[in-house]
Amino acid sequence: MKITITTLGSISPYSKENMNCPGFLIEYQTYKILLDCGNGITRLLHFPSDLNNLHVFLTHFHSDHIGDIGSLQYASFCHHNLGNLSKKIQVYLPDNDFRFNRTAILSNKESFADYHSIQEKQSYQIGDFLISFEDNHSHSIESYMIKLQSQNFKLVYTSDIGTNNMNGIINFAKDSDLLICESSFLETHNSSTKTHMTASKAGQIAKLAQAKQLLLTHFWPEED
Ligand SMILES: [Zn+2]
Repeated sequence: MKITITTLGSISPYSKENMNCPGFLIEYQTYKILLDCGNGITRLLHFPSDLNNLHVFLTHFHSDHIGDIGSLQYASFCHHNLGNLSKKIQVYLPDNDFRFNRTAILSNKESFADYHSIQEKQSYQIGDFLISFEDNHSHSIESYMIKLQSQNFKLVYTSDIGTNNMNGIINFAKDSDLLICESSFLETHNSSTKTHMTASKAGQIAKLAQAKQLLLTHFWPEED
């Protein structure tokens, strides 16, 4: 199975110049999976073709991870009305309603979409990938790590994680072929926050989880 992984956005908490907030497009078989929908990522998608067979996973309701979901919903609505899209896009999101974001997304009537829950005991089979979730309880709000598992490829995306449950992350990411791990800070930032990861700790996680490849992401916009 050929898998194409495209980074659409890799900075946080705001978009800047030609850099977008988090978004990863995973293409395989006839499917497209979008992990997070950060500010600016829709400008790198191709419309209407990328709306076909599109499954969007929103890991949590911080604005840098959902900034473009309204644009994507509206694109689905417009292209459906133009006759370019016959099948609804599928959107998966947590059950909590942090700052009414879930309500806002679900009540957007100018959208051609179905909605599904992200929960720890929930998993979805999409083509050859089984998709499952876990809240590491280390970020400042409920936030889900996502695992895509096929017979011979395992991808783990941490989304936002903190430093107080490293073992939980290592277990979830165990033996992944590709680990996409947030690294909001460098050790030199000397940040007191415990609700984000550093690049150094992401490296430790990858090593202990025996991940074959590590992709760092979620960079501070003012860093090189
Ligand atoms: Zn966050």
